[in-house]
Amino acid sequence: MRVPLNDPTEPTLPVEPYKVKVVERIPNPSREDRERALVRAGFNLFNLHSDEVRIDLLTDSGTGAMSDRQWAALMIGDESYAGSRNFARFESTVRSITGFHHILPTHQGRAAENLLFSTLCRPGNVVPNNMHFDTTRAHVLRNGGRPVNVAVRDAYDPQSDFPFKGNIDVPALDALLRREGRENVPLVMVTITNNTGGGQPVSLANFREVARTARAHGVPLYVDMCRWAENAYFVRERESGMRAKSIAEIGRAFFDLCDGATMSAKKDGLVNIGGFVATRDRSLAARMKELLILYEGFPTYGGLARRDLEAMSVGLEEAMDLDYLTHRVEQVRYVAGLLDARAVPYLHPVGGHGIYLDVRRFLPHLSDEDLPGQALAVELYREGGLRTVEVGSIMFGPDQGSKRPPLELVRLAIPRRVYSASHLAFVADVVARVYERRADVRGLTMVYRPERLPHFTARFAPKRGASSRAPRAGRAAPRRKRA
Ligand SMILES: *Cc1c(COP(=O)(O)O)cnc(C)c1O
Repeated sequence: MRVPLNDPTEPTLPVEPYKVKVVERIPNPSREDRERALVRAGFNLFNLHSDEVRIDLLTDSGTGAMSDRQWAALMIGDESYAGSRNFARFESTVRSITGFHHILPTHQGRAAENLLFSTLCRPGNVVPNNMHFDTTRAHVLRNGGRPVNVAVRDAYDPQSDFPFKGNIDVPALDALLRREGRENVPLVMVTITNNTGGGQPVSLANFREVARTARAHGVPLYVDMCRWAENAYFVRERESGMRAKSIAEIGRAFFDLCDGATMSAKKDGLVNIGGFVATRDRSLAARMKELLILYEGFPTYGGLARRDLEAMSVGLEEAMDLDYLTHRVEQVRYVAGLLDARAVPYLHPVGGHGIYLDVRRFLPHLSDEDLPGQALAVELYREGGLRTVEVGSIMFGPDQGSKRPPLELVRLAIPRRVYSASHLAFVADVVARVYERRADVRGLTMVYRPERLPHFTARFAPKRGASSRAPRAGRAAPRRKRA
């Protein structure tokens, strides 16, 4: 439900479809506190203490609020090592949503990826995906594989309003499969929604084509189903003939086309920890189960407390609720509307779980070497205590196997059921204030560079004198030449 405000140019207010039962105090660090925290953290917002953060938009992963029904579910944990009834309910919930038979619980998504990729992926293999998420990419690389992104061209144009920017470029996928052959491609993966590309949905029509292509080449098809319910919401909204269908039906239409899935239930499972890998392939399941026992735990708990499985069963059901999903998407659109009013550039159209600021348009006076995405994330923290994350040249830079990342973004991920409309209005205001003084934003250099997943632990320092090249505020920024 949305309420129009008095001023017709104002975006409508998303009204929360829940009320507050428990509250958590929000810290409010002073400007001096924030400056000190930045230095201590090496200008990496992952190193901040949560007490130093006012509004935390680092991720929507495991940061949501559980419902009263989920908290109640924790109380009926059957903590048996083997054969817990919580596992039985979890297994039947996931089976009824996905139709996959073999369900292996894991403590989170990357553990599911570890099981799948270390079982299927061999050195020299190629793994296509619309856009690899950072941990997915890292698991392919760790197993000697080569992650290849085959998203449609529109996915790389932040200004394109194409409604399904998560779609796969099917001719490109077909050419890749033709070139590499089934021996060298252990699976095709599709991430719904496409997180790295802005939380963008994949259409059912595209997914059908992908499934047909993968089948024609004899290659199994897996989905990274972290945000499958949000994806189904967009399909229902945008794809013809889908309006009358439920989220469950649309989700099932996707799952019926593929061989299995990995899931971080910290997203559309509405829990703080949990995940699973699911497959129709019995022998693959047996091999993954051996690793599951080695790395996670017995297959009826998979690295979780049994009560966590119960909360996950409830959360997976709640994530399909249309009122919840409508509000979630409206929250993102509300921020976008406020940013529009102040001409702040972000990736279009907004996706399901956050706003992605278009850094190359936001800070045109900085070049890639200035690490502009990180510089912007730092500035948003400095201005208003917001914690966000760079999705660009650090997360997917040269060290990660790509030359110039096609997109340079800062993600403002919205945790599920956590922040109110007034928090979001504050967020939009902080972003707009930084945009208004953007010419003063200076670049950064990386002073500590870890080998894998550098964004988590790298350290940075401000560039000296980098701001002297910057145009003054108020004047139009010249477009930087592309290398
Ligand atoms: C979060 C995420 C993962 C990894 O899940 P974790 O629970 O963080 O380990 C994988 N793929 C996508 C698309 C994600 O968003």
